[in-house]
Amino acid sequence: MTADVRWAIAWMRDTAAKIAEHKAELTTLDREIGDGDHGENLNRGFTALLAKLDELTSEPATVGEVFKLAATTLMSTVGGASGPLYGTAFLRAAKAADTPELTPADVVAVIESALGGLVLRGKAAVGEKTMIDAWTPALEAAKAAEAAGSDAGEVLRAAADAAAQGALDTIPLKATKGRASYLGDRSMGHKDPGAASTALILESAAHTVN
Ligand code: ADP
Ligand code: MG
Repeated sequence: MTADVRWAIAWMRDTAAKIAEHKAELTTLDREIGDGDHGENLNRGFTALLAKLDELTSEPATVGEVFKLAATTLMSTVGGASGPLYGTAFLRAAKAADTPELTPADVVAVIESALGGLVLRGKAAVGEKTMIDAWTPALEAAKAAEAAGSDAGEVLRAAADAAAQGALDTIPLKATKGRASYLGDRSMGHKDPGAASTALILESAAHTVN
């Protein structure tokens, strides 16, 4: 598959399935360093998105339209810190995806825009133990893959693998943003739930295109 409108829909559907499958795991991670609602929050949002996709009467014209639907749905249903964050990320990504099919450079632009939206909204930097620590290495890997001449699927695969590693790399970090920061040193030794969900979302993106 190419990174086209059908892929964008398949990506959102696969993410919904993955989030449902990993709901308990995300919630457990959030119970360790937060308030234990991250799995529930995202599952509520992506379940709502599935319903919105089912209601579509015609195929969206651009990848961006799919992302915009994701953005508005997640923003109004997820709640917590992650709802507005992912909502803003997809809204920004939509603007970089105003096309029926993403080129490798468009894939990089989508990830860069999503990360830009997250930083604008959450004001977190790398190393503060948030989802930024998954998106940032994902962007770096995507850029490197694109520069090396990879196709859109390979760029997404590089981003997904780097996000998974980035999520693992949050384990030793001390949280200084979000709810987990209330724990101080006790946040160390646990994977950040938002970085873990980002890894799932980007894994879905790569899985559905390849
Ligand atoms: P809440 O913390 O309100 O319960 P969630 O549990 O849904 O919201 O999401 C928690 C995740 O949100 C964290 O694991 C972290 O990755 C992310 N997060 C929280 N604050 C920020 C921030 N300022 N910038 C980026 N990500 C953040
Ligand atoms: Mg929470």
